[in-house]
Amino acid sequence: MSIKDRLDCIRKRIEAAAVRCGRDPKSVRLVTVSKTFPAETVREAIEAGADILGENYIQEARSKHETLSDCPVSWHYIGHLQSNKAKYAVRFVDLIHSVDSLKLAKEIDKQAAKCDKIQNILIQVNIGKEDSKSGVFEEDAVQLVRDAGTLDHVAVKGLMIIPPFYDEPERVRPFFAGLRNLAEKIRAMNIPGVSMTELSMGMSGDFETAIENGATLVRVGRSIFGERH
Ligand SMILES: *Cc1c(COP(=O)(O)O)cnc(C)c1O
Repeated sequence: MSIKDRLDCIRKRIEAAAVRCGRDPKSVRLVTVSKTFPAETVREAIEAGADILGENYIQEARSKHETLSDCPVSWHYIGHLQSNKAKYAVRFVDLIHSVDSLKLAKEIDKQAAKCDKIQNILIQVNIGKEDSKSGVFEEDAVQLVRDAGTLDHVAVKGLMIIPPFYDEPERVRPFFAGLRNLAEKIRAMNIPGVSMTELSMGMSGDFETAIENGATLVRVGRSIFGERH
């Protein structure tokens, strides 16, 4: 199958999953995760209609962004971001999914001010409390959202999760549901500077389960590009 065939197939599955649970398919956007794949492969995906790219490594993302500067595509940053790399992300990234500390949020704010930009961000939550995962613990998320909401050049748009890895998508359902409940709780607080409209959750193995639990951004890589080496 070509990249276009696989992309079309994922889009159909997203649409079907949304319809099955009574959601507007347009309320779910696909982030095509292009990490480790070269710019020319990514270009194929863009030509096949990928309009949001997700990247994890800042050097790689910058270099692809430069090579593909003629492409009408939105760049999202989904990997762990070190504060000292925030300046590079802020220059071209429309949404940073992975903010998990006030230190990072403040640095993004400072760099966004320099670019005269308001940087959209999501707060990454570690609901499973896994040691290996980044993300703020659930009980600290509200405070981080509040603090980030006070920053003038940052807009908190929602939450993101990378749940523990299981073979069966059913086992990740409670994590997706937990993220959604947390987002609803925060939304009800009406915190200034915080909108809580985006839920970034679901990858190749479990995006349909994520959609059933309210995902608005699903991040799919392998099912579009094949295995990463
Ligand atoms: C790599 C990655 C994905 C995509 O995972 P696939 O299994 O390739 O679909 C999604 N989200 C994050 C944060 C990732 O690092």
